[in-house]
Amino acid sequence: MPDFNDLLRLLEEAEYTVAFTGAGVSTLSGIRDFRGKDGIYKDRSVNADRLFDLGYFHEHPGYYYTHTRDMIYDLESRRPNIIHRVCARLEEQGKIRSVITQNIDLLHQRAGSRRVVEVHGSPRVHRCLECDRSFPYADICRVVQEGRVPRCDECGGVVKPEITFFGEALPMAALSQAMEEASRSDLMLVLGSTLVVQPAASIPLYTARQGGRLVIVNDAETPLDDLAALRYPDLKSCFEFLETHLP
Ligand code: ZN
Repeated sequence: MPDFNDLLRLLEEAEYTVAFTGAGVSTLSGIRDFRGKDGIYKDRSVNADRLFDLGYFHEHPGYYYTHTRDMIYDLESRRPNIIHRVCARLEEQGKIRSVITQNIDLLHQRAGSRRVVEVHGSPRVHRCLECDRSFPYADICRVVQEGRVPRCDECGGVVKPEITFFGEALPMAALSQAMEEASRSDLMLVLGSTLVVQPAASIPLYTARQGGRLVIVNDAETPLDDLAALRYPDLKSCFEFLETHLP
């Protein structure tokens, strides 16, 4: 059992702690990741490159909506897990200032986190690609769960989530907010990310370059492991420890 007391001590000492989360945080909630062992990239029935490809989406929006129906549009059956809950509690206690996430599943928000920076966009809002009309997530979920492809009710255009697809720029406002948070923080908890998807994966470097500490909790190696003050392999046992040892 690794010594999680060191982590408690760093959390205690830090002035400004930020969490950075990736897909590994959501797999405990039954949401598939991309590159993990049961990830979408390993599934031969889905062409993962096509799934979030902007060009393909324009022509075949049904492909995206059919294959993401469980992953993105059925969040009622997906509950925030211990990691989301503890992150929200740490924020409530003023111990972490914000959560920067690569995830698009809204689980941090549902767990109660207030300051969530979504660097790969979000399905909270969908927009018509023709007339830019926006549609709330709940309305889109209803349509997708009925097995239909959402269309704009004004102009009939294709409706796309504000998730960043391949072929699109990352959301600049979120990205610069993430860099700002990372630069300000003297402790960053990197949770469940393999840190390979750029440019989001460089965000912890902004903390490290300012002399801040990194704590990396992930079941696989990351390119920044050598920079980490602490390195743990198992998210679940780490957060079970935190849950029982937090005030
Ligand atoms: Zn429209």
